[in-house]
Amino acid sequence: MPGAGCVVRGAVLGAGFAVLGAGFAVIGAWCEASPAEAGAAREGWVLGADGIEITARSRAMQPGELVVLNITLPQHADRVTVRAFDRDAVTFADNDRQWRALVGIDLDVKAGTYPITVDAGGLHASYDLAVAPHRFPTRRLTVDQVFVTPPASEEARIARDAKLLADTWTSPSPRRLWTDHFVRPVPGAANSAFGSRSIFNGKARTPHGGADFMSPSGTPIHAPNAGRVVLARNLYYSGNTVVIDHGLGLFSMLAHLSAIDVHEGDRVDADQIVGKVGATGRVTGAHLHWAIRAGGARVDPLAVLALLGD
Ligand SMILES: [Zn+2]
Repeated sequence: MPGAGCVVRGAVLGAGFAVLGAGFAVIGAWCEASPAEAGAAREGWVLGADGIEITARSRAMQPGELVVLNITLPQHADRVTVRAFDRDAVTFADNDRQWRALVGIDLDVKAGTYPITVDAGGLHASYDLAVAPHRFPTRRLTVDQVFVTPPASEEARIARDAKLLADTWTSPSPRRLWTDHFVRPVPGAANSAFGSRSIFNGKARTPHGGADFMSPSGTPIHAPNAGRVVLARNLYYSGNTVVIDHGLGLFSMLAHLSAIDVHEGDRVDADQIVGKVGATGRVTGAHLHWAIRAGGARVDPLAVLALLGD
């Protein structure tokens, strides 16, 4: 729900899509749900068209952030589709007329304005998402040279790993498996180097797509939320890796484990232990790397904790 002092509601409902002009019918304002606080969730009202009301919450409208849309329909719909960045957002019903969508702004999205469209059983609304630029820092790391220039003998394996992960992200469970709150997989603060442009041994590599938790080797790792283990094996770069399918396009990847305590196909509950912190794969030392995919977008797990944590 919107924060106090953020009242834009009601003014234009019923005006209809056409009346609101060409392009996307969006009226609204962003405002602080609470006094400014680093990482606090922001909340704003957006009035959709066709009597659909949409509110949005996020830490910021920037690459790597998650945007939670609350969608209130004027009537029941069996199905709601939300599209953004040419992808289907993670969309689910809270009750008959109340839906939510999780829109991930991938860390490589350029600053600009992007339409989000909502289709609900013949009703339509659109929302213009203005993505602000974000300059990610660069980090320079020194790792074993085999993880910077892998030997030719590992090329086939690396290609197999990449395909396996790509196929995983595109075949989510069609049902929501996660429960209300995401939890921190290990205690302690994260060194959120999310999005950092990474230079390994002087060579530029793909940006950092997760948050790193500096926990000692052997620390138990808890499932950030419920789901099905769809991958539990050793991969070249991420070492011992567990991927949990939370359903509807939401995934957690936990990497560099010293031990894996689950099997592919297992159902896990939120907070269940899935393995232990380690230093396998391309690392400078023991830590947990937690990455999240939301509808295909790489988003900061700390954004997910801020918006969907307890
Ligand atoms: Zn990492």
